[in-house]
Amino acid sequence: MSNNEKHTIHDFDLNIIYEYFSSTERQGPGNIDETLKALSFIDGLTEKSKIADIGCGTGGQTMVLGAHTPCEIIGIDAWHGFIDQFNQNAQNKNLQDKVKGIVGNMENLPFQEEEFDLIWSEGAIYHMGFEKGLKKWRKFLKQGGYIAVTENTWFTEERPAEIQNFWQEIYPEIDTIPNKVAQMQKAGYLPIATYILPEKIWTDYYSSQILKRESFLKKYNGNKTVEEFVASQQYEAELYYKYKAYYGYMFYIGKKI
Ligand code: SAM
Repeated sequence: MSNNEKHTIHDFDLNIIYEYFSSTERQGPGNIDETLKALSFIDGLTEKSKIADIGCGTGGQTMVLGAHTPCEIIGIDAWHGFIDQFNQNAQNKNLQDKVKGIVGNMENLPFQEEEFDLIWSEGAIYHMGFEKGLKKWRKFLKQGGYIAVTENTWFTEERPAEIQNFWQEIYPEIDTIPNKVAQMQKAGYLPIATYILPEKIWTDYYSSQILKRESFLKKYNGNKTVEEFVASQQYEAELYYKYKAYYGYMFYIGKKI
């Protein structure tokens, strides 16, 4: 199959994608250590501060924020199944008084202007596009508030055609580090920290999917859509191992100015 004939994650039935990802603590590349590292750049959070976690999924990172800040936190995600799981997780961790999940669309957030001291978003801003997300979410932050997002980024100015074409098709906004930082600055934030997440973030994410792929194929034996979806996930992982020198996830942390 040529790249053009391969399915991307966006082509598949959303229910299949959601079911595939709902059994894991995180639905994207990330872990506790990296969430805490990013949090270490944020100053001045008190029990009066509010955090929004946009595209929170089942809340892997939100629960870390809940356990390590005194703040009130709202997680928002488009899929009710993730939010049900999110609120269950908050309860299991005894964080339900501080951490709440709501269903909503990141393109049309149900928040007030200047409501938040911190906007968090791991592995989700790409659904809207990095630049558009940064611009549209800015009004929900107080002056001096922070934004912390992760984003897939090119590490080099040039790269092999196979990987260039793959990501260009899935996410045309993928760009280099200096271009992303410039976009953050142009959107009205002071860039506070920009750093590459360790390879382990993605290798753990992909290896956690190996068993899941097998059980998913067994459960949906003969279902072509599921087979193609699982194959697309496997192909993405193979490309990562082959081309990880050229791209990876980055944290971008900015302050509203
Ligand atoms: N932040 C979580 C994590 O790192 O584990 C989830 C990351 S997952 C890759 C992206 C999330 O964005 C999914 O939970 C998906 O449901 C959510 N999402 C996609 N489009 C959205 C939208 N328009 N509004 C709100 N959430 C959305």
